[in-house]
Amino acid sequence: MAMGEFDLIKSYFEQPQIRQDDSVQLSIGDDCALVSIPEDCWLAITTDTMVEHTHFLPSISPQDLAYKAVATNLSDLASMGAQPKWVSLALTLPKVDENWLEPFSQSLLQTLKDYNVTLIGGDTTKGGLSVTITAQGLVEKGKALCRHQAKVGDWIYVSGTLGDSAAGLQQILSGKRAVNFDEEFLQQRHLRPTPRIALGQALVGIANAAIDLSDGLNSDLGHILKRSQCAAEIDLARLPLSPSLLNLYDRTQAEQFALSGGEDYELCFTVPPENQLLLESKLKNLDVPCRCIGRVVPAFEKEKCGQFSIRFLRDGEPIDYSPNLGFDHFKE
Ligand code: ADP
Ligand code: MG
Repeated sequence: MAMGEFDLIKSYFEQPQIRQDDSVQLSIGDDCALVSIPEDCWLAITTDTMVEHTHFLPSISPQDLAYKAVATNLSDLASMGAQPKWVSLALTLPKVDENWLEPFSQSLLQTLKDYNVTLIGGDTTKGGLSVTITAQGLVEKGKALCRHQAKVGDWIYVSGTLGDSAAGLQQILSGKRAVNFDEEFLQQRHLRPTPRIALGQALVGIANAAIDLSDGLNSDLGHILKRSQCAAEIDLARLPLSPSLLNLYDRTQAEQFALSGGEDYELCFTVPPENQLLLESKLKNLDVPCRCIGRVVPAFEKEKCGQFSIRFLRDGEPIDYSPNLGFDHFKE
């Protein structure tokens, strides 16, 4: 007989966590989990859902699915400068398939362990496959990196390289098995994005605003600009593009992936000029490269290009360029 809901939770998710987390007073098994929060911190809370066919293909491995569900949530905490602490998992399964649950739960718990995060609860239901994670983290009171605090004159930075994930997805969708380093690199960037947690925390007190790039630079930087009532100038020649992306696609296509493709989970952040030296010195201790790609400017006049949007340059010269918009679930 297939195992029931409670056996399932006990076997796969209620495993004694290797690292004892003393902030957790009560974990899986009661109606709520209980955690203690340091006096000088605020709680940062985020939820992300992954639905089969919408966010992932049925062909994704349970290991990659679990990894990515955790990584996308931790990326949201990273973009606020928060330290990830606890997650809960709402899992909807079409059936109890132990050959799927075993690798899924192992990958989930291992990923959490890698980031010192504890699974403290969840919900398990029957239905179309979907994974919802709520992640919670700590950030010093009043110090979180928000979208609304970019200021005119700030320099705009992005971490890592952009566009890899969208290119990797295009390959996966076309049924292409990775046969060389570049294809493997791009597909892995789609399946195994790295949440920039250490970078996010390092930016606290340095950056004015930050966001993680889940829908593409154009759309996500647009959120910062709109909330901060500013516009931006971005130099396309300065977009960080990986060697693999440039090996497999021409520059135009690579830039299009970088601006409009989603799911890179890199950070985009704005830094006032007076903090730039401090930023450079902090970045030396991190292994993630960051590149300045432009700056925050006063909102444009409406008739020109939409009030809070982006003006593109190439090598410092204004160009006429309108990238496709970023991903939006409810737009055709
Ligand atoms: P309730 O009926 O109070 O909502 P549940 O029966 O849904 O409780 O869950 C029992 C316990 O198991 C709770 O502590 C819940 O947080 C935990 N739990 C349920 N599903 C999961 C899961 N997929 N991963 C981790 N913990 C889970
Ligand atoms: Mg429940």
